[in-house]
Amino acid sequence: MVEALKLFCQASGHQINFEKSDLLFSTHATRDFKQNSRTIFDIKRQQPISNYLGSPTCLSRVTSKSFNPLLLRLQNRLRLWKASTLSQAGRLTLINAVCSAIPNHQMGVFKLPEVITHPIDVHRRAFFWGHEVNTRKVHSVNWEVIEKPKLYGGLRVRNLQHTNLALLAKKGWEVIASNRSLWIDIVKAKYLRNQDFLTMCPKPLNSRVWRDILKARTVLTKGLGWEIGNGSDINLFTERWIPSKEGITAPIYSNPTVKPIFVSDLIDSNTRKWRSNTIYHCWPEDIAKQIISIPLSHTEKPDRRVWTRTINGKYTVKSGYQAIIVNQNPALFDWRIIWKLRCPPRVKVFMWKLALDALNSSSNLFNIGLNFNPDCVFCKSYPDTSQHLFKECPFTQTIWRLSPIPQIVNAPFNDTPQRWISKTQQLLRNQHRDIPFAMELSVIICWNIWKSRNEMIFEQKRVTPQGTIKASLVFWRSTKDAQSLLLKPKSPKQLHHLC
Ligand SMILES: [Zn+2]
Repeated sequence: MVEALKLFCQASGHQINFEKSDLLFSTHATRDFKQNSRTIFDIKRQQPISNYLGSPTCLSRVTSKSFNPLLLRLQNRLRLWKASTLSQAGRLTLINAVCSAIPNHQMGVFKLPEVITHPIDVHRRAFFWGHEVNTRKVHSVNWEVIEKPKLYGGLRVRNLQHTNLALLAKKGWEVIASNRSLWIDIVKAKYLRNQDFLTMCPKPLNSRVWRDILKARTVLTKGLGWEIGNGSDINLFTERWIPSKEGITAPIYSNPTVKPIFVSDLIDSNTRKWRSNTIYHCWPEDIAKQIISIPLSHTEKPDRRVWTRTINGKYTVKSGYQAIIVNQNPALFDWRIIWKLRCPPRVKVFMWKLALDALNSSSNLFNIGLNFNPDCVFCKSYPDTSQHLFKECPFTQTIWRLSPIPQIVNAPFNDTPQRWISKTQQLLRNQHRDIPFAMELSVIICWNIWKSRNEMIFEQKRVTPQGTIKASLVFWRSTKDAQSLLLKPKSPKQLHHLC
């Protein structure tokens, strides 16, 4: 072994620092053997190296302490940011861009159990809602909803368990695709030994990393397919090989003399064309047509596994994650109305909460048992609901009438904010085509009504409909100007200025 390491150093030009190195032994190694080995390699280190690049080096049993450094890193990062000084949209960006990425390295190697991911989620949740972990605050939207894709009513915060599986599946894909890499050669020689990666059973003595990679096979089965070469590796009874079909479509032997087992039995090797008679004997007409439409290569190259959820047939973590979450119920509301708005993210997040009826209105807080006066702060005559606050309150109606889009007062609310937003969009599209950014204006007015309401309750400020509409128009114009500047091609003079 010492000679092998010397040769490696000579060939690669690397040097091993034995003062920073350690030897790992199996549990059966004797004390004498360990001591002798340390002497041979001149390892002076007494304390074992428990972590390398932030990941535990030895994991026989995972406890919450195994990944403590990970949680500490997250806590330290969150401590640097003052949640109270950031908008919820700003906190969301930081969660998606930084917090969710911190455990990526570990999640690409180990399957983190819930005992690890749960505290990370607790910190992410608390930061998003703007409070400390050990204090309580109303979370008006479930974390499961927040983790949904934006078109399904969520904020696309990554689910850690799903991300973990999608990252591990990338390792599994590399094994299946037989990418050229030393670690793949090693695991193939050690664990696979001519067994199929997708069907082999893990053994208790297999390494934890290997067993975790095998757990991610459930992700790969959601999108694996074949690029047909000679067809001899593709079993008709066990493989999903027809691109347009989700599951396995086995043949039915209606003709006893024709019994294809592999795809190669369906291909005429001389002409390199499908044996259409055999195919029509074994499958219903619609499936037979789909099979015959699959292009065949002119040469008898080997069959190749492909990932069917990307154009180039290669697995990506993003497509793996989407394969896990794909079975979501379709959304009844077109969330693109909100996410395509050309206004700042904090306004969009406000509208997302309004659409879910999840604003901390007095009546919502009263309904969950908090000691809050449920009456509208402006008219003091009706409960402070979304429908009243943004449409029916005399204060709000004055604002809409003073605005360039007074017809909004005619949009029916019909009990749900989502219907009201859809109707508002239709109405503006039909009647205010002449006003660019009309939908953005309606949203900004709603946002300012909410701000006025909060200023009145929490800061005891005196607010008026005139003041609210004025603030809305100023904000709307600045947003419109900023967006127009982004859309306009830059003149050479501006470009020069930017350089
Ligand atoms: Zn009112």
